[in-house]
Amino acid sequence: IVSKIAHKFDTAEEVVEKAVIRLRSKGFSTPMAEHIFQYAHSDEVPMSLIRIAVKMTVEKCSLNKSSSNAIASSRKVDSSQQQVNPLFSSQLNIGSRNRGSGDSVESFGSWGFEDSRFVLNTLPNGSNVVIMKGGRYSISGKPLPKLVGFIEKELNMKIDPNSETFQGVDFSLPDGKLTSEDTVRILTAIDDDTSRLSTVAEDRARHGTGHTQDDIYSLRSGSFRTRLPDAVVWPRSVSEVQALASLATTYNWCIIPFGGGTNVTHSTHCPSSTVDPRLMVSVDMKLMKNVIWVNEEDGLAHVEAGITGRDLIERMRRLGFTIGHEPDSYEFSTLGGWIATKASGMKQNKYGNIEDIVKEVTVVSAKGIMSHKHKANKVSFG
Ligand SMILES: Cc1cc2nc3c(=O)[nH]c(=O)nc-3n(C[C@H](O)[C@H](O)[C@H](O)COP(=O)(O)OP(=O)(O)OC[C@H]3O[C@@H](n4cnc5c(N)ncnc54)[C@H](O)[C@@H]3O)c2cc1C
Repeated sequence: IVSKIAHKFDTAEEVVEKAVIRLRSKGFSTPMAEHIFQYAHSDEVPMSLIRIAVKMTVEKCSLNKSSSNAIASSRKVDSSQQQVNPLFSSQLNIGSRNRGSGDSVESFGSWGFEDSRFVLNTLPNGSNVVIMKGGRYSISGKPLPKLVGFIEKELNMKIDPNSETFQGVDFSLPDGKLTSEDTVRILTAIDDDTSRLSTVAEDRARHGTGHTQDDIYSLRSGSFRTRLPDAVVWPRSVSEVQALASLATTYNWCIIPFGGGTNVTHSTHCPSSTVDPRLMVSVDMKLMKNVIWVNEEDGLAHVEAGITGRDLIERMRRLGFTIGHEPDSYEFSTLGGWIATKASGMKQNKYGNIEDIVKEVTVVSAKGIMSHKHKANKVSFG
C-alpha cells in the first residue's frame, strides 16, 4: 500500500513538473499555482494529490509564496481578493511624450507608428514614388509608384512634394486647473510616482483628442477648438483606478478613461467649461496591460483593460490562440476601449463582436466596483 501511495505521489509530482516546464516554454517565467493547475492533469492521480504536489513545487521553487496559500481553497482566482502576478512580465510604457517606447512609439498627429510613414521621392524624370519607411509592414521599403497618381485622381487634387506640411509645432497651452493640492492627492493614489502624472502640453493635447480629421489637424497645428484635460494620469492597478475614482467623487472632478485614443467620435474630448467647469483628468489605461491568466481548456483569458489589440493578439498567438477580434485600429486601440465603444472587428462573422467575446467585466464606478460575473461556459448535454 505504501509503495502504491508513493507511486501516486511520484506521478503527481511528475505531472506538476511537466506543467511547469510547459508553462516556462510558453514564456511564463514565474508560473503561480493557479497557472500550474491549468496544465496539471492526470487520469492516474486524484486532484487532491495534484494540489499537494503543486503546493510543494511552488514552495520548493519559491515560485510565489502568496499564491501557494490559495491552492487548497480554489482553482479559480478571484482578483478582488487576491493579486495574481501577470503571466508575462510587463514593461513600463512611458517613453517620449508617454506614447510608447522602443519601436512602438505612436506617431504624434497622424495615424501609425513613428518609424513607419510614407516618404515621397521625386525621381529625375519628374515622377513621384512613395516608399514606406521602416521595416514593420510587408509594404515597407517597396516603391509604390502608382500611389500619388491614385490619390490625385481620387481626391481630384495635385500633390506638390515641395509644399510644406505641418511637421509638429511646439505648442504651449494655457495652464490647466490642477492645483498643487490636487497634484498631491493624485500622487497619493498612484504611489507617489511622479512619472505617471503629467500636465505637459503634448500629453494633455493627445488625451483630449481622438482620431478624427479634426483631431489630427488640431494636433498638427496646435490650435484646439475644444477644452483639453487639465492632467493625465497612468494608473497601474484596479486599486489605483478605484483611488482615482474615489478622489473624483470626493473633490467633484471629472475623470475620462483613455485607451488608445483611436475613437472617431470625440469621446475623449472634454466638455467646455461652460457645460462642465470641473477639473478634467484623463485616466490613461495603457499601463494596465497584463494577461493575468489563461485557461486553455475553456478558451478564456483574464486580461487588464489597457492592453492594446496588437499586444493581446501577439500574446495569445504565442499560446496558439486567436482573440477573434480585430478592428482596423487594433494596433493602438485597447481592450477597454473596445468594450466601452462596443467595437466591431473584421472577423465578426466568425467570432462575433466584442460583446460576444467578453465574458466578464470589472468596472470601477463612482460608487465602487461593478462586476458582471459568469459562472461557466455554456455546455449543452444531449
Ligand atoms: C484607423 C481606424 C480604424 C478603426 N477601425 C475600427 C473598426 O474596425 N471597428 C470599430 O469598431 N472601430 C474602429 N475604429 C474606432 C476605434 O478604434 C474604436 O472605437 C475603438 O474601440 C476605440 O478604442 P480605444 O482604446 O482607442 O479607445 P479610446 O479612443 O481611448 O476611447 C474611446 C471611448 O472608450 C472609453 N474608454 C477607453 N478605455 C476605457 C476603459 N478601460 N474603461 C472605460 N472606458 C474606456 C473612453 O473614455 C472613450 O469614451 C477605428 C478608428 C480608426 C482611427
